[in-house]
Amino acid sequence: MLKALGVGAFWPVPVETAPEEVQAPAVVEPPIPVLEQAPAQVPRVAPAARVPVPLKTPTPAPTAAHVQAPRPQPSNLDWPALTQAIQACQACGLCGQRKQAVVGAGHVQARWMLVGEAPGEQEDIHGEPFVGRAGQLLDRMLQASGLTRADAPPEQQVYIANVIKCRPPGNRNPTPEEVLQCEPYLVRQVQLVQPRLIVAMGRFAAQALLKSSEPIGKLRGRIHDFEGTPVVVTYHPAYLLRNPADKALAWDDWCLAKSWMTKR
Ligand code: SF4
Repeated sequence: MLKALGVGAFWPVPVETAPEEVQAPAVVEPPIPVLEQAPAQVPRVAPAARVPVPLKTPTPAPTAAHVQAPRPQPSNLDWPALTQAIQACQACGLCGQRKQAVVGAGHVQARWMLVGEAPGEQEDIHGEPFVGRAGQLLDRMLQASGLTRADAPPEQQVYIANVIKCRPPGNRNPTPEEVLQCEPYLVRQVQLVQPRLIVAMGRFAAQALLKSSEPIGKLRGRIHDFEGTPVVVTYHPAYLLRNPADKALAWDDWCLAKSWMTKR
């Protein structure tokens, strides 16, 4: 299972660690078992071209580019209208620099909903969340959990969305103002999908959904709530590419999520 996540036989590898994250413990034997619902052959999405995962640049102070329009009000929109609204949205300064807004992807009645941070360069080009190396790692984690983003029944196919729908330039972190402006779209997506579980990947997704300022290391390991839907917090795949020692912790999170779902 660790091999599926790209964890090598040698351990640990000294790596750079984000300030808010925690260090991984030593790997515990025995190896993580294959989960019961994993199909023999899980369909996989064709891997996207390998691209580097750039490091984050600092979040800038609000400027004239962040002057905000009224907050979007999508609470009555159906899927086609919501998609159209997001693609045409100009509610924050990110609209001026995107190639396209990235709405989301997957089964619109999925049991599992995954929430990430924001589109990167490749997502902005392709109009799809989680392409590139982070997307490939996510696909391996999904496969190891018996899930997929390729066409499949709603028990297996996930729905993936980001907190922010337009790419922050230079791969910088989104500003609080941008998160606030874009959040109604994510709320509406959750209302439409009605997932049984949300997996919040990364600090921005977790803090935005849970209205928390706690670091991700303190939010992991328990079940939270977002408007009646259980939430499990884990690391963002791009973070795991920079900090592979924490893949074991991420797998613990996926096991918690899987365990919660099998009890429902
Ligand atoms: S990031 Fe969200 S709020 Fe800002 S322009 Fe894009 S869709 Fe609208």
